[in-house]
Amino acid sequence: MGRKFVVGGNWKMNGTKAQINEILGFLKAGPLNADTEVVIGVPAIYLDYVKSNAPANVEVAAQNAYKAEKGAFTGETSPLMLKDIGVNWVILGHSERRQIFGESDELIAEKVAFALSNGLKVIACIGETLEERDAGKSEEVVFRQTQAIANQIKDWSNVVLAYEPVWAIGTGKTATPQQAQEVHQSLRQWISKNISPEVANAVRIQYGGSVTGANAKELGSQADIDGFLVGGASLKPEFVSIVNARQ
Ligand code: PEP
Repeated sequence: MGRKFVVGGNWKMNGTKAQINEILGFLKAGPLNADTEVVIGVPAIYLDYVKSNAPANVEVAAQNAYKAEKGAFTGETSPLMLKDIGVNWVILGHSERRQIFGESDELIAEKVAFALSNGLKVIACIGETLEERDAGKSEEVVFRQTQAIANQIKDWSNVVLAYEPVWAIGTGKTATPQQAQEVHQSLRQWISKNISPEVANAVRIQYGGSVTGANAKELGSQADIDGFLVGGASLKPEFVSIVNARQ
């Protein structure tokens, strides 16, 4: 199928310069599988620093960007500013943005569309809460979140979807490879039917939620898992073995 494995690290609101230098140290030492695309999601204040100091085989992402070029949006960062400092990726729709900062499906979709139209690549996060899973609504939620994005964009070539069940994020409760594969597969089928078979074949779907060096290989061997979005473990040297899960 030829979908390149893509592993993102989401540092969230973590890191000081000293810690960042350590992280960059283990990323430089690697070695990182050349067949895997690596993108690290960095707090806004450190984007320029990391962009200037990261090894060439590691791309840099913002963790958020607003849906306007510039203006009276205190505290926000625009896609143009990201491009201006050479940052080509942004993570949007993370469950923490949805839950803590109240971002709606529609706002996230608008941000995705605006970021893409300004030449950014997007990791768009989707995923159900524990309540929704227990109510048997995992697929319904993931399809609804993806539909909101599909309503705003036509070209999916610069989008990576990250399926991140909220109950698995930062909890140590990983979805089993079978649970994750099941959702990834039905999402791909939904995309084929509701967007196009071409997009379904090409779009990369990452799994995120307590991925570690210990569970990455089995998760990464599932047919519809094309990479990971990694939180806690992306701050640690084990991130290298997650990047290399397909080796
Ligand atoms: C995340 O923040 O996207 C995430 C998956 O976190 P963790 O790996 O810590 O569960």
